[in-house]
Amino acid sequence: MKKGAEQEQDKADKRKAVLESIVEGRKMEAYAEHRTKEMHACWFCGTICYRKKPVKNIGSRWVCIDCLKELKEALETLSQWEESIAMQKEIVRQVDEGLNPQ
Ligand SMILES: [Zn+2]
Repeated sequence: MKKGAEQEQDKADKRKAVLESIVEGRKMEAYAEHRTKEMHACWFCGTICYRKKPVKNIGSRWVCIDCLKELKEALETLSQWEESIAMQKEIVRQVDEGLNPQ
């Protein structure tokens, strides 16, 4: 009688252990999924951003703070850049005219 009860207890313990390991497995899966959701690769530089590196969602892309800073700089100096492009075009035009006088 006592032996039978012990066997039942053993079975229950084993079942409990199996259930616990399944639950642990599920927890790990959920955690991995959660982590992956927080992880984003920067569209510009490809850096994997996870917690330590701020990353911003722009449209359907993720861009890290470093690239955003560079982008901001590029935008701030855009008119300067455009001026220098226009100047270069003008120089090319003048050189062309100098080489091909009409
Ligand atoms: Zn980046």
